[in-house]
Amino acid sequence: MVQSSMADEVEMFFFPFVGGGHQIPMIDLARLFASLGVKSTIVAAPNNALSFQRSIARDRDSGRSISIHPLDLPPGSEPPDSDMSAAPFTDTSMLQEPLRHLLIARRPDCIIADTFHRWSADVIDAVGVPRIVFNGNGCFSRSAQELMRIHRPHDKVDSEYCPFEIPGLPDRIVMTKSQLPHFHKLSGSGKLSGRTLNSEDRSLGVVVNSFLDLEPAYVEYFKKEMAKKAWVIGPVSLCNRNVEDKAERGQRAAIDEQSCLSWLNAKEPNSVLYVSFGSLARLTPKQLLEIAYGLEASSCSFIWAIGKIFEPMENGEGGREDWLPSGLEERLKESKRGLIIRGWAPQLLILEHPSVGGYMTHCGWNSTLEGVSAGVPMVTFPHSAEQFFNEKLITDVLRIGVQVGSMEWTSWNAQPGPPVGREKVEAAVRKVMDGGEKAAEMRRRAKELGEKAKRAVEEGGSSYEEAEALIQELKSRKKV
Ligand code: UDP
Repeated sequence: MVQSSMADEVEMFFFPFVGGGHQIPMIDLARLFASLGVKSTIVAAPNNALSFQRSIARDRDSGRSISIHPLDLPPGSEPPDSDMSAAPFTDTSMLQEPLRHLLIARRPDCIIADTFHRWSADVIDAVGVPRIVFNGNGCFSRSAQELMRIHRPHDKVDSEYCPFEIPGLPDRIVMTKSQLPHFHKLSGSGKLSGRTLNSEDRSLGVVVNSFLDLEPAYVEYFKKEMAKKAWVIGPVSLCNRNVEDKAERGQRAAIDEQSCLSWLNAKEPNSVLYVSFGSLARLTPKQLLEIAYGLEASSCSFIWAIGKIFEPMENGEGGREDWLPSGLEERLKESKRGLIIRGWAPQLLILEHPSVGGYMTHCGWNSTLEGVSAGVPMVTFPHSAEQFFNEKLITDVLRIGVQVGSMEWTSWNAQPGPPVGREKVEAAVRKVMDGGEKAAEMRRRAKELGEKAKRAVEEGGSSYEEAEALIQELKSRKKV
């Protein structure tokens, strides 16, 4: 992106939450605005800056005005859990007073705050600094959930597995009750908590990590019917332009980038499936076993980033290592058909490699956008949060993916339901990777969307323009 000389007096603060799926895009946001000439400051818990300080240092070296401000905690208070497993309800309220003092001292032109800092709206509004909300979701899932709240179609079905259609959407979207977050099922509810919503109503507006061409009807619905004001400025992950940034995003990868890249370089274009379920999901050993058998039977090459594991099997077996089918890892090494990463994967680096031709994903919003931006078709395997809605966007609206057949929504901290079987895993992988006519169509659509994603963030693209519009709005507010 080109530096804008018009914007150099604008100072924006970014206040990320302390978990992977929320923290990562907020850091990208700060870097994106710095690339547009804004003075960006990332306000972080003191123990939290380590995971992204190197990419910020590189941006500074290249002349951008970006810095990290670690908050000083009051004596005796513990910082929030800051590894990538910080969950949606991690308490960050110990940051309240330090943030308040910082805002009073510095008075930035605005602060973009993550909605999971539930206390932050009151503190920021009391100081009088313009506040913008970041909630990490796309417009399709928010619109679909709003229409569910209004019409409650799930109240009219008899069972958890009886399909219903969400009324009022431009596309036919069918779901089951079993795929819904629990709060939708509460009577008179089905929406974010009042506190969260009020906080959006009282804000200057919302920044959305998405792009217009991805979900035009839903961007329109969200802007017209739901948001006070919205700037749709993604995919923010595309601000990571060099290998170091891609390799270290979020945290240090559990594999060195060179061995990962040389493994991929030896593969044919579009021949490898990347398998990952994000930063939070904890799969049971039984589910991992079914995935392992399904992947092996699919005959497709794959890189599998194995994240968190829920618990050992009831019989006491299946601790961290011994759930894999016997001999699988040796067979994979010998045949060079599979690469298993235990821990954090350099996801952007992998997804953007030309050998990667498919992505089995839990449909977290960042991962969805990253798959879209890389132009790869997906095998959708949602678990929690709004992931079942994102799945429908991928498979039923964009038609760039195949559902594995996940039926059970599970809270991030609860025992997952019965596993999706190996036959389903194998069948879905084959549909995406077999090179047949339908797969080729899907791949063509995915590639086209990937191109559109890249165009959106280039100068003159829709996301670029909306980011500029936000900067202009902040500049004009300074003058009043
Ligand atoms: N991620 C990564 N390596 C991993 C797992 C996750 O880089 O091994 C990144 C991924 O690229 C994405 C984020 O972590 O940016 C996960 O966010 P998402 O919204 O997809 O899911 P969540 O982790 O919040 O469930």
